[in-house]
Amino acid sequence: MIDFNRPYYDDICLKYVKQAFESHYHSGDGEFTRKCRKWFEEKTSCASCLLTTSGTAALEMAVLLCDIGPSDEVIMPSFTFSSTANCVVRAGGRCVFVDVRPDTMNIDETKIEEAITDKTRAIICVHYAGVSCEMDTIMKIAKDHNLKVIEDAAQGVMSSYHGKPLGTIGDFGCYSFHETKNYSMGEGGALIVNHPEDIERAEILREKGTNRSKYFRGQIDKYSWVDVGSSYLPSDILAAFLWGQLEQAQRLYDERMAIWNLYYELLTPLSEEGLIELPFIPEGITHNAHLFFIKTESLEVRQSLISYLKARDILTVFHYVPLHSAEAGRKYGRFSGEDKYTTADSERLVRLPMYYGLTHDEVRTVVAEIRGFYDEQRTVR
Ligand SMILES: *Cc1c(COP(=O)(O)O)cnc(C)c1O
Repeated sequence: MIDFNRPYYDDICLKYVKQAFESHYHSGDGEFTRKCRKWFEEKTSCASCLLTTSGTAALEMAVLLCDIGPSDEVIMPSFTFSSTANCVVRAGGRCVFVDVRPDTMNIDETKIEEAITDKTRAIICVHYAGVSCEMDTIMKIAKDHNLKVIEDAAQGVMSSYHGKPLGTIGDFGCYSFHETKNYSMGEGGALIVNHPEDIERAEILREKGTNRSKYFRGQIDKYSWVDVGSSYLPSDILAAFLWGQLEQAQRLYDERMAIWNLYYELLTPLSEEGLIELPFIPEGITHNAHLFFIKTESLEVRQSLISYLKARDILTVFHYVPLHSAEAGRKYGRFSGEDKYTTADSERLVRLPMYYGLTHDEVRTVVAEIRGFYDEQRTVR
C-alpha cells in the first residue's frame, strides 16, 4: 500500500515534546513557541511571526487586522480551500472569485483589476502547491487601488518569489502546520506580520483581546481587555513538535524536493506524448515540493486513473471543488468574469502520493502504474 500522505515525526520531535511536558509549562508562548518564532523571523526577515492554532486562525487574524467588515469585498481564487473564503465571510465580507491561470493554478493576475469595485478592500492570493503567485503585478494593483494583500501561504513555507520568502511580500502572510503540510504540529499555523505597526494589535487579537503579551514582557504592570480577539495561540507542546522539524528543515526540504524532481523526470515522457500535463514553475520562483499533481485530459480519465491506482493499492486524491460552485460559495460570493479554467482544470487534476519518507522505489512504482494505465487505455481504444 502506498499512502497518499504520512505525517512526519521522529525521535527529535518526541524528545522536545517530552521536554515541553517536563518544563511544566504547557500553555501558549513558552520556550518552544519562542524558538519557532525566532527561527521564522530570522529565516524570513519578517517583522513578526506569531504561531497560531491553525492556518485558518492565521487567516482570520489577518482579515481582522485588515479591518474587513460587513459589505466589504475581498478578491481571491475559487480554486482553494474553504478557509481562504471563510475568514472573510466570518467578518461579514463577501468573496469575489477570480479565475486561475492553467499553468500554476494560481489566481490570474491579469483578471484581478476587472474584479475591483468601490467595495473591494483586499486581495487574498493563494500560493498553490507552494508555487508563488505573480506578486509584482498583484502588489502593484493593490498599491494603485489602495487594497490590502493577504498571502495564503499555507502551502508555501520555505518557498520564495524572486528571493523573497512567501508570506513576507503582502501585508500579512499565513502559514499552516497541519499534518498534510510540509512541516507539521498536527494542527497549527503562523501569522507573518510584515509591518511593525501591526504587531501590537496582532498580539492582542491572539491573546483573547488582552494586552497580556505586553504584560509578559514587563512593559505594563497589569493586563486587561482592550480589543476584540480570540484564543489563537497553540500549546507549547505542539510548538515543541514543530521545533523538532524546523531544526532539520533544510534536510526535510531537500528530501522532499528529490521526490518531486524524480516524479517530474519519470513523468516527462508521458507528458511529451500528450497524455498528461505536469506542474509548471515560473522563472525566478523557488518552490517547496509541497505537492505533486498531474492533469489528465478529462474528468472521466481522472476518475478511472484514481480507481485504477486504488485497485493497485496506490492512494491519490483530487481537490478542490471550486468555492463559487459550492453551497456556501453561492451564498457568500460571486465569480467575476469567465470561469475558463477553474472548473475545467480542477476536474482534471490528481495529486500523487507525496510525503517525507516516500521511497524513490515507491515513486517509480507509482509512475510505472500510471504508465500501465495509459497502455491499457490505448489497447481498449
Ligand atoms: C491547509 C490550508 C489552509 C488551512 O490551514 P489549516 O492549518 O488546516 O487551518 C488554508 N489555505 C490553504 C490554501 C491550505 O492549503
